Amino acid sequence: MSAWDKWDFRYLELARHVAGWSKDPAAAVGAVIVDEHKDRVIALGFNGFPSGVEDRYDRLSDSDLKNEMVVHAEQNALLFAGRMAKGCSIYIVGKPVCARCAVLIIQAGIKRVVARKPKNGTDSYWDKCGKTSLEMFDEADVSFVDSTEYDTVPVEPDKYSAEAIINTLLYMPEKPKDVA
Ligand SMILES: [Zn+2]
Repeated sequence: MSAWDKWDFRYLELARHVAGWSKDPAAAVGAVIVDEHKDRVIALGFNGFPSGVEDRYDRLSDSDLKNEMVVHAEQNALLFAGRMAKGCSIYIVGKPVCARCAVLIIQAGIKRVVARKPKNGTDSYWDKCGKTSLEMFDEADVSFVDSTEYDTVPVEPDKYSAEAIINTLLYMPEKPKDVA
């Protein structure tokens, strides 16, 4: 796989843009899967609930519940890429790669990961988990490119949906609409 070039930067910028489509007020993450020649975008993903599942404030504000329900950006991109992910690169902006995504990235046949490197000596779940991911990438022969210097500014989640979430909070029904 070729060294870092302007296309890596461009795909990271694209991942940053896609991260901004996330409705999660606490964390916006974007992922872009690109073919091995760096000339074709195969799939995009951002963190969010599965299609059709409502982005309700009570779900988004309860971190345990949210973590149970959310599809990570990398997982969404991998699901859309399907078998085309084999041999590709994945660009991730917003968080280090968690171990649950790392196992899927490896099994999908991704060969190169461009993402923020987990920090040392923090209590952050993402940093600890991210170290496990790096260990697995190394053993599985997936190359890892640290893009931390391009991933220092937090991504603002979708401002239009933030408005929708506030509206949900203000007008939250007593029961879900479809309960008879
Ligand atoms: Zn993940």
